[in-house]
Amino acid sequence: MSADRLTNRPTEGGTAVHGATIDNQTRCVHYATVTDVIAIKFYCCRLYYPCHLCHEMSAGHQAEQWPKSLHDQRALLCGVCSTELTIAAYFDLSACPTCSAPFNDGCRLHRQLYFAD
Ligand SMILES: [Zn+2]
Ligand SMILES: [Zn+2]
Ligand SMILES: [Zn+2]
Repeated sequence: MSADRLTNRPTEGGTAVHGATIDNQTRCVHYATVTDVIAIKFYCCRLYYPCHLCHEMSAGHQAEQWPKSLHDQRALLCGVCSTELTIAAYFDLSACPTCSAPFNDGCRLHRQLYFAD
């Protein structure tokens, strides 16, 4: 697979996802298991990327984390149904409330890359 062809594929619902996506459910060259269907909107540029490595590869600036006071913002995108979830709601979910797609629990382990506590 070639990581140098950046594709910026939108989801089926038409939401723009930046970075090295490999399908239209937000999987990327770094995270491509069946449950990797979440894209994260970055606080710094307010653009959706599949993961922190995609942001690092393509954004051209340092990632910034959402402050706790803004955890009511919709910054998570389900790649299966294009539902946007708030940060606070996402922390308590292991599957999409709209389409029931299971989310990768591993994402929560490095959530500090995206969200300040
Ligand atoms: Zn950014
Ligand atoms: Zn990635
Ligand atoms: Zn969904």
